[in-house]
Amino acid sequence: MKQNNILYLLGSGRSGTTLLATILNSTNKVLTSGELHQFYTYFKNDSSCSCGDSVHKCTFWKKVIDDLNLPKDKIEICEKKQNNEEGHRYIPLILLGKKASPDYVISQKQLFNSITKHSKKQWILDSSKYIGRFLLLNQITGFNIKGIYVVRDVRGVINSFSKQVQTPRKPLNTIFYYLLTNFFGQLICWTNKNIIKVRYEDLVQNPNKTIETIYNNLLNSETENKTLNEEFKMPHIIGGNRLKTNKTIKIKKDNAWESIISRPKQILYYILCLPFMIINNYKI
Ligand SMILES: [Zn+2]
Repeated sequence: MKQNNILYLLGSGRSGTTLLATILNSTNKVLTSGELHQFYTYFKNDSSCSCGDSVHKCTFWKKVIDDLNLPKDKIEICEKKQNNEEGHRYIPLILLGKKASPDYVISQKQLFNSITKHSKKQWILDSSKYIGRFLLLNQITGFNIKGIYVVRDVRGVINSFSKQVQTPRKPLNTIFYYLLTNFFGQLICWTNKNIIKVRYEDLVQNPNKTIETIYNNLLNSETENKTLNEEFKMPHIIGGNRLKTNKTIKIKKDNAWESIISRPKQILYYILCLPFMIINNYKI
């Protein structure tokens, strides 16, 4: 059996992970499949893939679903296992040695084996971001996992969450979420040599360089795509943010927070997230 090579995106929401996932999909070795922690929920509810078709009809996911060939009650068990074992509240326990259940391991192996079988590329990108999921997948034999930890200035994240589209959050709520996800993200980034950090701001400034760094330092190969396109085709993805309904996306630097958020609030938010602002070299 082929080894499953998994490229996993970590970091808080609204940090540019969908953008990075879509850009990587345009390169020669990476197939982006979306937020796979939602796969069994999509499977159960027959939700829509980014291509617009339901997952039972989508040209890519239909093949995976046919392979799995699960009755409804089994799909529900897989969904439940996933939701019960990957939640943020279990991260400390997993770090202390909690093991994935056998059913969880089987459900994830079947999923990745099938995606690997139908993919023509070497790496499958899972942009779930859940740290618990990353740690659990790392326990599975036959999975070769590399992580990309994406960080962004907290004020950009706050501004993005303040837009009244898809799961808006208030600033203090965003800060709490940001501190929590980056605490664990940074912790495992320091302790796991198979993770590299990417700053959203560097990605939009110089995407070619970011992709080259990911290929050279993480995938240990050269990219054939030295110069990226201007526009990127949306792959068949599960989950993801509102960008996914676009057929293509362009790289656009979003630094609107600099003019939208008042200066006193900018300073306050910066101070509240001080350790991460300093570690990641953001200026006040
Ligand atoms: Zn599709």
